[in-house]
Amino acid sequence: MWKGTAKTKKGANMIYLDNAATTQVRSEVIEAMLPFLDKKYGNASSLHSLGQEAKTALEESRAKIADMLEAEPDEIIFCSCATEANNFALKGLAFEAKKQGKDHLIVSKIEHHCVLHTAEWLESLGFRVTYLPVDEYGVVKLAELEEAINEKTFLVSVMYANNEIGTIEPIKEIAKICEEKDVAFHSDAVQAFGKIPLDLKKVDMLSLSAHKIYGPKGVGLLMKRKHLRIQPLLHGGGHEFGLRSGTENVAGIVGFAKAMELALKEMPRESKRQARMRDKLIKHALQIPESRLNGHPKKRLPNNANFSFRYAEGESIVMKLNEHGIAASTGSACSSPKLEPSHVLLALGLAPSEAHGSLRLTLGRYNRMEEIDYVCKVLPEVIEELREISPFWHKKS
Ligand SMILES: *Cc1c(COP(=O)(O)O)cnc(C)c1O
Repeated sequence: MWKGTAKTKKGANMIYLDNAATTQVRSEVIEAMLPFLDKKYGNASSLHSLGQEAKTALEESRAKIADMLEAEPDEIIFCSCATEANNFALKGLAFEAKKQGKDHLIVSKIEHHCVLHTAEWLESLGFRVTYLPVDEYGVVKLAELEEAINEKTFLVSVMYANNEIGTIEPIKEIAKICEEKDVAFHSDAVQAFGKIPLDLKKVDMLSLSAHKIYGPKGVGLLMKRKHLRIQPLLHGGGHEFGLRSGTENVAGIVGFAKAMELALKEMPRESKRQARMRDKLIKHALQIPESRLNGHPKKRLPNNANFSFRYAEGESIVMKLNEHGIAASTGSACSSPKLEPSHVLLALGLAPSEAHGSLRLTLGRYNRMEEIDYVCKVLPEVIEELREISPFWHKKS
């Protein structure tokens, strides 16, 4: 059993390798947020000084974030999470586009469920959706994208990097195609921000979430270029430029800005450090018989490793690792309880049996190489134990 390390933050006694699901709020962020949960509790819409204090903090955070995203402050719309931001981008633009007689959108097959299920819902309202295929590494096919765009297309949505397999998409090329064809381009950059440099000049809409970058849960944003009109999903008091009503989560937004700032500052060092741990995990896991790396060998996030082990169920691997004090995941956190094969792995062309046996290990800023050494020792044992009790493994040998 893992006994923890003095270096592990706050004495945590788990090796946390599920940073794509969520992250621990960093202490600098908590410190920045606290005053706005306590004495500075004003409503940013109130005219008195308590309200104006909140308003100032809100607008300072917005300006900082805009700067980091090479955007204008009034292009940053705060909301409750990236699920909302993605819903907002797709539905908000769909309802606007309909007025101009456009009814077609394109999303990749490996988007997060909050994009895919939104697209399916729009289909049920009469919109048409193209689900863009990816290659065996999860990279969208540019030629097929170009072919799919027609005069009714109002939006292309492709994530910056995938949350399950870590593949980084050719965002610059996709944005260029969209620009040439005069179609809006949205990207879900939840997993990419703070891990790799982003090229946002030609991105029309971008979704981010605070809790994936050591910020609090319950706050996200949609960056939306001014030239693009979209319809609000939440109507009310007219907050966020009339696009997203609801009293602003000032503490959360202040924490979000702080988390973004620190993530960018530490990115060069952290990405290299995490990539070294990732590469060690990959090297050791691939020494296990009948294993494969899912996702692109090179164009992948520095913190992501995703494997399939034949004759070992993903859920069983996760439960066994948990017994050893290691927090990992199979597929994506939201889809795991359903025990369905991952839509991402199926899109890569994996057989359902292989897609069931996936293990995702995602690193973060609190992981240390000694933890990875321990995982590299435990993982082969766990896979072997599970195969020992698998009738298929025995039939095979
Ligand atoms: C986590 C995640 C989301 C959803 O973010 P929430 O803020 O938890 O709603 C969306 N897209 C990707 C790629 C994610 O990893």
